[in-house]
Amino acid sequence: MFEVVIGLEVHVQLNTKTKLFCSCPTSFNHKQNTNTCPTCLALPGALPVLNKEVLHKSVMLGTAIDATINQTSYFDRKSYFYPDSPSAYQITQLYTPVVEHGKLKIDFEDGTHKTIRINRAHIEADAGKNIHDGDISKVDLNRAGTPLLEIVSEPDMSNGEEVVLYLKKLHSIIRYLDIGDANMQEGSFRVDVNVSIRPKGDKKLYTRVEIKNINSFKFIQKAIELEVARQVEAWEDGVYEQEICQETRLFDQIKQETRSMRGKEEAADYRYFPEPDLLKAVITDEMLEKFSIIPELPDEKMARFVKDYGMNDYSASVVTSAVEMAHFFETMMQEGISAKNALTWLTTELQGRLKGEINITNSPVDAKKLGHLVKRIEDGTISGKAAKEVLDYLMEKEEDIDSVIETLGLKQVSDTGAIEAICDAVISANPEKVEQYQGGKEKLFGFFVGQVMKESKGSANPQTVNELLKAKLG
Ligand code: ADP
Ligand code: MG
Ligand code: ZN
Repeated sequence: MFEVVIGLEVHVQLNTKTKLFCSCPTSFNHKQNTNTCPTCLALPGALPVLNKEVLHKSVMLGTAIDATINQTSYFDRKSYFYPDSPSAYQITQLYTPVVEHGKLKIDFEDGTHKTIRINRAHIEADAGKNIHDGDISKVDLNRAGTPLLEIVSEPDMSNGEEVVLYLKKLHSIIRYLDIGDANMQEGSFRVDVNVSIRPKGDKKLYTRVEIKNINSFKFIQKAIELEVARQVEAWEDGVYEQEICQETRLFDQIKQETRSMRGKEEAADYRYFPEPDLLKAVITDEMLEKFSIIPELPDEKMARFVKDYGMNDYSASVVTSAVEMAHFFETMMQEGISAKNALTWLTTELQGRLKGEINITNSPVDAKKLGHLVKRIEDGTISGKAAKEVLDYLMEKEEDIDSVIETLGLKQVSDTGAIEAICDAVISANPEKVEQYQGGKEKLFGFFVGQVMKESKGSANPQTVNELLKAKLG
């Protein structure tokens, strides 16, 4: 029997305004090779200058994962040649990274937890992009020199489920801190998965294989499954030593396999040495104090929602997992509505109507509006059914809630006089039923309510109808 050992390296693109060592903008949807300068093109004589915003965002992350912040950290040069890196080296932090020894708690569905240790988070510069176009390959250096934070876990995970929980938690924290947009498809949250196996109980670490190029949680789980199967099979066939070597493998989502991309270089191959063009990165006490102020994180927010709104853990975790959702919910709550209704109208009614490019950040019905709509149900102005009509209408047209209620004629009649007249009419039209009801057939109450609602064409406030009928029928 085997156990699986997994450690992750996550490259997070930081959403700073300018690049790591120059003042070029970090937006890359501009025309190719226009966001460049002598520094990020690595022209001779140009010198890098550290962007302080990068230190700020690194400290925020370090604070969120309970890590040690090194107030003095250093940059190192990692040599390798690749066409998208004009300097033929990458500036990174090998020996003393800015953030070390952190941890992240992951939560299982059954309510148990596990702590994954984080070895380090270091700052490094991203490369440009190679674009392959038929027989031609082009290089776009707009991305070259963009700041990355590489977050390296200890090999503490033992299956795909833990990996996905870890990644989702980390992703959520980055979004809460707003230090990066962490978009997996667009490459601003890139994951390398290191996998090895060992006989159960063995404490030694065996040969790890690094899998790159996986851009969805589903594929990460699949890649782990396939890689573990390959290693176990090699072990059982007695060819583990020959077949499993430390290398980088690529996950092919079409062929559903991992295959060798290149032999994994040892640190020595990169000929690391201290970066001579940069000063050490210093975070003064004053900077540290300022940079370590961070917003409420998903776990804290979840605990607060449970406590303040009486939600169960599950609902609280659903609504706090994404920062946009949590903010949306809290804005709705400012309308003074019940948490239960807010949750249903957000997660079922609104989200059920969001399609394609429309999500809660650009929804035509914003949090304030949806909260207002729920308020109108709670104060008896409209029924829940009518509110769904209002919502459908507002998904198409920009209009004020109260005027839509007017336009569509959905206002409930709570005017006792009008409802009372209908109740009387229904009672006198059904003398037999009244007799049966008064004789003990209580189920008939629903019949009377139904009749009154029908006569009022659904506009009567059901609560008022109930009260009046109770009083009249005795
Ligand atoms: P490199 O940059 O060479 O990939 P790092 O030290 O940055 O090396 O990252 C190594 C990653 O691999 C870490 O996430 C670590 O937890 C993980 N790892 C190390 N040894 C093993 C192993 N035997 N099995 C699985 N993961 C491992
Ligand atoms: Mg690596
Ligand atoms: Zn530049």
